[in-house]
Amino acid sequence: MAKKSKIRVRIAPSPTGVLHIGTVRTALFNYLFAKKHKGHFILRIEDTDKERSKKEFEEDILENLKWLGIEWDEIYRQSQRRDLYSEYLERLLNDGKAYKDEIIWFKNPNKKVVFNDLIRGEVEFDSSVFGDFSLAKDMKSALYNLAVVVDDYEMGITHVIRGEDHISNTPKQILIYEALGLPVPQFAHLPLILGPDKSKLSKRHGAVSVGEYRSDGYLADALINFVSLLGWSPQGVDSPEKEVFSLKELIDKFSLDKVQKGGAVFNIDKLDWFNSIYIKEKDIGELTDLSIPYLIDSDLIRPEFDMEQDPPAYGGYFLKQEYVVSETGDKIGVDKIKKIVGLEQGRIKKLSEISDAVRFFFVEPEYSWDLLKWKDMDKEEIGRFLDEAEAVLCDVKDSRFDEKNLEKKLLKKANEFKDRGKLLWPLRVALSGRKKSPGPFEIASVLGKKECLKRINKAKSLL
Ligand code: GLU
Repeated sequence: MAKKSKIRVRIAPSPTGVLHIGTVRTALFNYLFAKKHKGHFILRIEDTDKERSKKEFEEDILENLKWLGIEWDEIYRQSQRRDLYSEYLERLLNDGKAYKDEIIWFKNPNKKVVFNDLIRGEVEFDSSVFGDFSLAKDMKSALYNLAVVVDDYEMGITHVIRGEDHISNTPKQILIYEALGLPVPQFAHLPLILGPDKSKLSKRHGAVSVGEYRSDGYLADALINFVSLLGWSPQGVDSPEKEVFSLKELIDKFSLDKVQKGGAVFNIDKLDWFNSIYIKEKDIGELTDLSIPYLIDSDLIRPEFDMEQDPPAYGGYFLKQEYVVSETGDKIGVDKIKKIVGLEQGRIKKLSEISDAVRFFFVEPEYSWDLLKWKDMDKEEIGRFLDEAEAVLCDVKDSRFDEKNLEKKLLKKANEFKDRGKLLWPLRVALSGRKKSPGPFEIASVLGKKECLKRINKAKSLL
């Protein structure tokens, strides 16, 4: 197959484990490079190791790359290309460049191998250091270095962009290209990703699999943005401080010459910061859809199946857009859940925090009386102010129990006193049971009149 002039790059994960943050970074940089140059991004599953490769790992890799939005143009599996490797192996054996022993070895010409790495500049290896190296276990079982060279050539790969941990394989692969008389692609080795202690990022430092981040409630675009800056920065464009980039902007700004040589430190606080920004920017409908599974998981709500409607022609039931509050059995609509999630949208760093953040809307809170205390109020004074708040709420009709009206009525009352906190703090705590929460008007409008009065009375009983 003739080498194409168009840019073609690849990500070549081995399905011997789930999708790892490091693989995502390599995939993303390849993807950005391809899209920027209107080239092709290829996914190659390197599943030649029969014992360690597992279908479930391959599925995890594909599923999570898709979730991240890193879409490939072509996909291949090495296990389906064995015959091709055998042909090249044959050629090397016939030309005396390889020889058979227990396994098949490449005859090292023992020479200097020099290549121009697009990130690291000129790199030189003395190949005599590593001696002859293995190409295949037998004629049908090619090993990594041979399969990669054959595939990169056959797939017309123009740039091999991969982690620095592969740099010692590069001279071996160049020797194979030369022995086969094939053109050598360009190489770019990306800096290692390091943990906070500057050692190579591993499980010791916390979660490294994308699936874990996903179930912990990190958003795909936040992860993409965060990972894009692991070893790369678009310095000089717009303002140097800008760090929040959409995928489209990343494609536009990406270039290999802005990739750094030194290791890139993985800072989880930074990821949390990105995630909270993306959560704040998320459409509230989408955020609610994403939050509902967490609320169900923590048994705050349960989905309600409406079995009364006529079953659809294909059988089964309609899933109504309705839920019940687990604690009370009361129905709760998506609009109400949306309102609740909206009140915490600016506070949570990841979706898995949503259940704790909104628990008090679904379950009557437990707390100790002194939380009701604003400044130096004593029990008697707190009680009096809770009575005042109760009286205001009692006066508001059910149909007018909305945020605006409650704010108007409660502020009017609160302004009668020198310190508004005396009315508003105990009320807010009575409704939420929390030191920090959204404001009392917002909470009250979601809880509704009956529940508010019930909670105020409970607060009074603590005094
Ligand atoms: N299969 C290799 C890996 O998972 C990638 C090899 C390459 O990019 O050349 O690390």
